[in-house]
Amino acid sequence: MLNTKVVTRFAPSPTGLLHAGNYRTALFSYIFSLQNKGKFILRIEDTDKARSKKEYEDNIVESLKWLGIKYDEFYRQSDRSDLYASNLKKLIDSGHAYVSKEIPKEVGDREEVIRFKNPNKKISFVDLIRGKIEFDTTDLGDFIIARSMNEPVFHLVVVIDDFEMGITHIIRGEDHISNTPRHILIQEALGIPTPLYAHIPLLLAPDRSKMSKRKGALPITDYRDRGYLPNALINYMSFLGWNPGTEQEVMSFDEIINQFSLEKVQKAGAIFNEEKLSWFNKQYIDKMSIDDFVIAAKNFIPENISPKLLPLIKEKISKFSEIKPLFETELSFINPLPVYSFELLKWKQEKDLVNTKVYLGHIVEVLEVMTEFTKESVKQALWPYAEEKGKGNILWPMRFALSGKDKSPDPFVIAEILGKEETVKRLKYAIQNI
Ligand code: GLU
Repeated sequence: MLNTKVVTRFAPSPTGLLHAGNYRTALFSYIFSLQNKGKFILRIEDTDKARSKKEYEDNIVESLKWLGIKYDEFYRQSDRSDLYASNLKKLIDSGHAYVSKEIPKEVGDREEVIRFKNPNKKISFVDLIRGKIEFDTTDLGDFIIARSMNEPVFHLVVVIDDFEMGITHIIRGEDHISNTPRHILIQEALGIPTPLYAHIPLLLAPDRSKMSKRKGALPITDYRDRGYLPNALINYMSFLGWNPGTEQEVMSFDEIINQFSLEKVQKAGAIFNEEKLSWFNKQYIDKMSIDDFVIAAKNFIPENISPKLLPLIKEKISKFSEIKPLFETELSFINPLPVYSFELLKWKQEKDLVNTKVYLGHIVEVLEVMTEFTKESVKQALWPYAEEKGKGNILWPMRFALSGKDKSPDPFVIAEILGKEETVKRLKYAIQNI
């Protein structure tokens, strides 16, 4: 553990709905603060008044809450204007910044902005992920730090806030590397220390292009609404650019906190793959008890369904949004039988449908005398017969007669769910019509 108290932050701009790439940055900062028993701050960077919207801020707060990422402090830059104005004045008074007369190029351009007086020097810093990074700041010119005394821009406010909030580790996206030399110049001008930087690689779409709306960059709340579990998402996101160096993939958050290491985050961009996320989600669903499953999926499970269906649903899906379609496909057997062609009762290797009729007749005889009617007992009662006559010859027509569909769960499962009376009724219906 480090000597000084670690303070990290997530500093999103509420100018749109943030995607997994943004939340993965938040997660890495959060994990790092927890590992070091430090503090994690949420700071809403809404200096861009035209593009910042409250609804995006609300979505950030809601998303973090759903993911279980808890912050110790919350700030909004629009509440902190005085602090920025006084620092801006300080920079101007000390000759590190100046009011610059501009020639407007377009309508609406400013005639006056505040620029930082670039000392044109070489800057270097040691990034915790990428190692030593050097820049010659000459190329940056005298960059803008405010549009007016009351309109500071990102480069200035980020430096002031990180200092005021005591941020020790700035963990942020790699797209900010090129901004860091500007930030270090401002820190030097204000006489404040440079925190440690860790620039994490960007998240990429499966074709290695930048994540965009069209390429799967969905807001995190969409994953919630489609029935992913927050802990599956957390597990998957922590594996984007990091892994524990073992085969283990499914890890509890405590295990992740124990094993995560910022220094081991890869330099290459990580690919966000929804199929992999689905796989993680399925692992988490598999591990759940039926009771927990019902609680977690309550908004997705149709009302008044037989509790017998729950294990089947849980087994078949990898996310909750797949529940509803099940009732139109594999679970449609719970609805009244559809009209079907009786030819379809014949297994493909069976020559004559008359044999099928005989088999179904025997199945009915066996089932009618049963008292305990579960998938296990039905299977046990019919299995020797299926082995004798050929499994396909017996199980296919039984399954088809019970569901009226060629895609459905196995016939023993259906029989249990339908119950003895309905099972026998459907089998007899098939027999009568062959
Ligand atoms: N507000 C910046 C962004 O949303 C983040 C700045 C930072 O993390 O330093 O990209």
